[in-house]
Amino acid sequence: MFTPAEMVTPRTLDELVLEVSRALTAGRSVRVAGSGHSFTPVVQTSGLLVDNSKLAGIRHVDYARSLVVVGAGTVLSDLNNELAGLGLALPNLGDITAQTVAGSISTSTHGTGAQFFGLAAQVRAITLVDGFGRVRHIDDPDGVRIVAVNVGALGVVVEYTLEVVPAFRLEAREGAMRVEELMDCLDEVVDTTDHFEFYWIPHTKWCLTKRNSRTDEAPAPLPRWRHFAEKTVLENVGFGAVCRLGSIRPSLIPRLATVLPASGSRAYRDQSHKVFASARLVRFKEMEFAVPRSSGAEVLTELRQMVERQGHMVSFPVEVRFTKADDVALSTSYGRDSCYIAVHMYRPMDHTAYFNDVQSIMVNHGGRPHWGKMHTLDHEHLKTLYPRMDDFLARRTEYDPQRVFSNDYVKKVLGS
Ligand SMILES: Cc1cc2nc3c(=O)[nH]c(=O)nc-3n(C[C@H](O)[C@H](O)[C@H](O)COP(=O)(O)OP(=O)(O)OC[C@H]3O[C@@H](n4cnc5c(N)ncnc54)[C@H](O)[C@@H]3O)c2cc1C
Repeated sequence: MFTPAEMVTPRTLDELVLEVSRALTAGRSVRVAGSGHSFTPVVQTSGLLVDNSKLAGIRHVDYARSLVVVGAGTVLSDLNNELAGLGLALPNLGDITAQTVAGSISTSTHGTGAQFFGLAAQVRAITLVDGFGRVRHIDDPDGVRIVAVNVGALGVVVEYTLEVVPAFRLEAREGAMRVEELMDCLDEVVDTTDHFEFYWIPHTKWCLTKRNSRTDEAPAPLPRWRHFAEKTVLENVGFGAVCRLGSIRPSLIPRLATVLPASGSRAYRDQSHKVFASARLVRFKEMEFAVPRSSGAEVLTELRQMVERQGHMVSFPVEVRFTKADDVALSTSYGRDSCYIAVHMYRPMDHTAYFNDVQSIMVNHGGRPHWGKMHTLDHEHLKTLYPRMDDFLARRTEYDPQRVFSNDYVKKVLGS
C-alpha cells in the first residue's frame, strides 16, 4: 500500500499535459496506475498518481494496414470485445485480460506460442507526455522498439498504434500428461502447436497441458454448466480450498497435489480471446523468468529437483510458456526464443525461500525477470541481460532527465 500526494484521472490529452505540468511545477514525481496487476511495487509514488482509465477505447481503425489506435488505459478485455466487434483480434494474449494495454506493454506482458511475440512487439507507434510536460509521438520503427517496454519510466503513455490480425478461433485441448513423457517430446509439441503451455504440479510427476491451435471450424464452446463447474468451481473454488488447507497444514500439500492431475481433459473451440484467457480467483504471489528456450527443459528439471531437495511445500503449479525472439529493447524475449517459467505461492504463505531458490537457478541460466513480477535483481545485474539497455537509458535521459517518472522500484531496476 502507498499514499500518493494527489491522484488525477485525466479525460483528454490536454488535461493530462496540464496535470503533468502542475506536478513538475510542484516538484512532484509522477507515476501511472494501470489495473494494479503487477506483483512488484512498480506503480508506487508519494507524488502524483495518474489514473489513465479514462484514456480508453479504440480511436481509429486502419483495416488496410491492420492497425488500430487505442487509448493507453483500455482494459484488455474491453479491447478484445471491441476488436471482435470489428472482426479483428490481438494475435496472442496472456492468461488474464484484466490488465490495461499500457500496463501490459510497459512490463513486457506475454502469452505463449513458439512463433508468436509478447504484446509489446505489436506496437507501431506511441504517444506520450514526457518529463517536460511535452507531447511526443514516436513512430520510427527503432524508436518504437526502444520505448515500448519502459516500466512507466519515460512518461505517461496516452495512446498506442497496435498491429492487429483478422479475428480467429482457437481449438483448445487440455489434459494431464506425465512430466518425463512431456520432456522427451517438448520441442516437437511446442513447434507443432500454435500456442502450447503446461503446468507442472509440484510433488507429483504430472503436468497439465494446454494446446491451443488456430482453426476454421465452427465454435463449440464448453456448455455453460461445464464451464462453470470446471473453470469456476474446480479451477478456482476447489483449487482455492486445496490452497487454504495446504496453508493451514503445509505437510498435507504433497497429498493434496495428487488430486490436481484428475482435473480432467477437455476440448472446445471459441473466439481466440475467450480461449486464451480465463478467470484467476485464487490470490497468489508470482515470480517469472524468461530463459533461452534451449535451456527450458533443463531449468525445469533443476527446479523440480530443487523443490524436492529443499522440501518447499508448494500448492501452486509451475507455469511454462514459450515465445519467439523479438527486437523490443527491454522485452524479456529480446533477441532469443524464450521459455518462460513462472512460480507462484498462495498469497497468505511465505514465498521467500522458494522464490530465492528459483531465482538462483534462473540467474545461472541467464534468466530475465518479468518487469511486473517478483524478483530481487538490481540494475547492475539486469543491464548485463539487455544488450540495448544503454539505448533505452539514453532515450530516458532525453525524455526525462530529472527522473520525474521514477520511484524506488524503477531506481533499483534502471539505476536512477
Ligand atoms: C492474475 C494475473 C495474471 C497475469 N498473467 C500474466 C500473463 O499471462 N503474462 C504476463 O506476461 N504477465 C501476466 N501478469 C502480469 C501483468 O500482465 C503485468 O504485471 C501488467 O503490468 C499488469 O498490467 P496493469 O494494467 O495492471 O498495470 P500496472 O500493474 O498498474 O502497471 C504496470 C506498469 O505499467 C505502467 N503504466 C501503466 N499505465 C501507463 C501509462 N499510461 N503510461 C506509462 N506507464 C504506464 C505503470 O506505471 C507500471 O510501471 C499477470 C498478473 C496477474 C495478477
